[in-house]
Amino acid sequence: DTLAPSTLDAPSIADRPYAAVTGAEIQAPLIHGGTVRYANLDYGASAPALSVVSAYLNEILPYYASVHRGAGYASQISTSVYENSRDIVREFVGGRPDDLVIFTRNTTDSLNVLAGCLPRRNGEQAGDVLYLDIEHHANLLPWQRVGHRSIVARETLAETVEAIREELAAGGVALLAVTGASNVTGEILPIAELAALAHEYGARIAVDAAQLAPHRRIDIAALDVDYLAFSGHKLYAPFGAGVLVGRPDWLNEGTPHLFGGGAVREARLDSVTWTTGPARHEGGSPNVLGAATLAKATQVLASLDHDEWQRHEAEIRAHLEAGLSAVEGVTVHRVFSDSADSIGVVNFSVEGYDAGLVAAYLSAEHGVGLRDGKFCAHPLLKRLGLPAGSLRASFGLGSRLEDAERLIAGIRQLRERGL
Ligand code: PLP
Repeated sequence: DTLAPSTLDAPSIADRPYAAVTGAEIQAPLIHGGTVRYANLDYGASAPALSVVSAYLNEILPYYASVHRGAGYASQISTSVYENSRDIVREFVGGRPDDLVIFTRNTTDSLNVLAGCLPRRNGEQAGDVLYLDIEHHANLLPWQRVGHRSIVARETLAETVEAIREELAAGGVALLAVTGASNVTGEILPIAELAALAHEYGARIAVDAAQLAPHRRIDIAALDVDYLAFSGHKLYAPFGAGVLVGRPDWLNEGTPHLFGGGAVREARLDSVTWTTGPARHEGGSPNVLGAATLAKATQVLASLDHDEWQRHEAEIRAHLEAGLSAVEGVTVHRVFSDSADSIGVVNFSVEGYDAGLVAAYLSAEHGVGLRDGKFCAHPLLKRLGLPAGSLRASFGLGSRLEDAERLIAGIRQLRERGL
């Protein structure tokens, strides 16, 4: 059941100049000597930057100057690059004209911004935040600081949607916070259905798209999603910038994320009038290069041949799932028994082997990089019966079938040699 070399060599989207990523030819040292092309199967943690994005970074680097407050030529360019980036991101996510596009550090930061903006009535939070137990900590811990309710995902997605309906129907939910795709298993949640449900019961919906945005086109107006958050470093841009897009009312009235310069309309010695709009939550000098490269990455993703892109990822996923499942003692993990669609993530464990040691072995002997552990989703790992963690192979544009094949061969060899 290994692939014939001709299939492995077949051209893929990874060969397209516009989809090329940096680091695709990195040579990884092997423990017994020599090197091998690094098989990066850790896109879910941070994806390599697109080569087009790296080139763009070099292009704008000389014009890097203070935004908004400088009249100089470089400041004008920086300001226009930064502000245009908002429009580019808005277009990428299908944002409504009045949605705010707030640049943050990452998804974690974005969801913390939103947690500070929940509506209040008579000095009290006007409703709880509802979330599932399958969430990444970024979409779980910010809500623990405010009024919240959590529910346990059921065996099927259909039952889980029903459980969410029951909780919403009980009343008093202001916001349903849900992931677009699980960072642990890759399973995609039915966002349009959940958005309709939230709205039916007078709540809003926030989608953590950290994993979904790098793999699927998202149109928040069509899906009727109120808030969307994602990170540049998982979306083929360099580290440092994330984004929160969404309805302006809560964001214009909420607690400014960082108290400081840029976020104020007028500051007095012992009081302040905060500004509205994205600047309210972007106190301090912003990450112009981060926002600009994030926006550039969204333009490249929007220009991809959609079918080729999806075929590429589905093929690698199918190959990994089939190949790993065929090895004795390997279990591929999923949350829902009826989930039909997944992004480029495959989670597995090898019976009798510590996940950390397997990851170290794959790196040292096969030049394969993947993630082991609990993936910042402790409640989910516990519920999957994996309190000590598991392994996650995640992939995307620059990945090749050969990377998947190397991982499968490495696991097979581990079992055969009984290491
Ligand atoms: N949400 C999900 C689903 C994630 O996978 C991650 C990162 O792994 C995050 C949120 C947090 O992203 P960041 O570390 O960029 O804030």
